[in-house]
Amino acid sequence: MTAGPEPHRLDAQDPLAPYRAAFQRQEGLTYLCGNSLGPLPLATRDRMVRVIGREWGESLVRGWNSHDWIGATRRIGDQLAGLVGAKPGEVLVADSTSANLYKLAVAAMQARPGRSVILSEPGDFPTDLYMLEGVARTLGGGRRLELREAADIEASLTEDVGVLVLCHVHYKTAAVRDMARLTRAAHAVGALVIWDLSHSGGIIDVDLNGCGADLAVGCGYKYLNGGPGAPAFLFVAERHQGALVSPLSGWMGHAAPFAFVDDYQPAPGIERFACGTPPILSLAALEGGVALSARAGASAIAAKARALGDLFIARVGDVLELISPADGAARGGHVAFRHPEAYAIVQALIARGVIGDFRAPDVMRFGLSPLPLSFAEVAAAADLLVEVVGTRAYDDPAFKVRATVT
Ligand SMILES: *Cc1c(COP(=O)(O)O)cnc(C)c1O
Repeated sequence: MTAGPEPHRLDAQDPLAPYRAAFQRQEGLTYLCGNSLGPLPLATRDRMVRVIGREWGESLVRGWNSHDWIGATRRIGDQLAGLVGAKPGEVLVADSTSANLYKLAVAAMQARPGRSVILSEPGDFPTDLYMLEGVARTLGGGRRLELREAADIEASLTEDVGVLVLCHVHYKTAAVRDMARLTRAAHAVGALVIWDLSHSGGIIDVDLNGCGADLAVGCGYKYLNGGPGAPAFLFVAERHQGALVSPLSGWMGHAAPFAFVDDYQPAPGIERFACGTPPILSLAALEGGVALSARAGASAIAAKARALGDLFIARVGDVLELISPADGAARGGHVAFRHPEAYAIVQALIARGVIGDFRAPDVMRFGLSPLPLSFAEVAAAADLLVEVVGTRAYDDPAFKVRATVT
């Protein structure tokens, strides 16, 4: 069964094929989980040895200047800006996605005094909703989180909405939200919008400024290949930077952190959204991942992500229920299927050397990172999935025991 285009021909024409060799590989393993934790770029491994041994070990505190550690959050942010349709000076690397969402949501609500609603969608990545509950609690005064299904978001935009918070790509289904349209609709009622780019940054076309976006956050350890728990990023459109103030007003966001004065004075630009001392070792790892993606180019990455998804979907055919959009332009970087035995199917695949993941209660996801993966590898993994389902190879008690992290 070989529906869809011929994978070896696609590999032969793939301009990103040389990037496969830039990642650490394991014989007999196909990694379809780059949407959860991106694989290790070889240059990052070497860079980590240098940053620890030479920079930290030898330069010691002088490294803040001599290796420009202090400039890392802006430097990486500027490089990332090109991947998400932002300008240099609009993106900062800092903290976690959760913390960045908190900072921007509080700042956005405070910039819309008199409005009480934070609007979002149910069923998307839970930390976003947890943080927004915390934002409402912090702000008090009747401020509250309201959740509406995606189809009802536009109709729910009233003059009482201060900020709309949406994930650009849904973490389960990979459905892409219409950033330009929803941003326009929110602006029409005077609300700000925060986009979570965790599943879109560095994998599909993201055009923040082209869409008139206000604010965004995103993840460093998924498609940006920044390493486990890598620092996240945030975007604040230049026109908002003077007006929004971070509620986590730490010294690294101060206009003059090394003046050591008592009063907080926010930095004029994007740096005001920094909080504490940046994690230089983690930033060094993230920088390697971002640099690879920047070199490959956002549009080449997006085109290959679509083609890999189309190929995977064509080969699985109607063997499984697809819950991702079949149209590549409406889909993020992974494909998801539903099956009551999804957990056991994923375990059976892992036992056969294909790592995908499971999301409760019945969804399996296959992340198709364009830089480390070939079309042939992805096609073979899809064929194996079809075989595991067809032969019920998942029907083994060993595949049904759940680990802590799923
Ligand atoms: C992965 C992901 C996060 C991660 O948040 P952290 O605070 O960095 O752990 C947040 N939001 C979405 C939508 C995600 O997919």
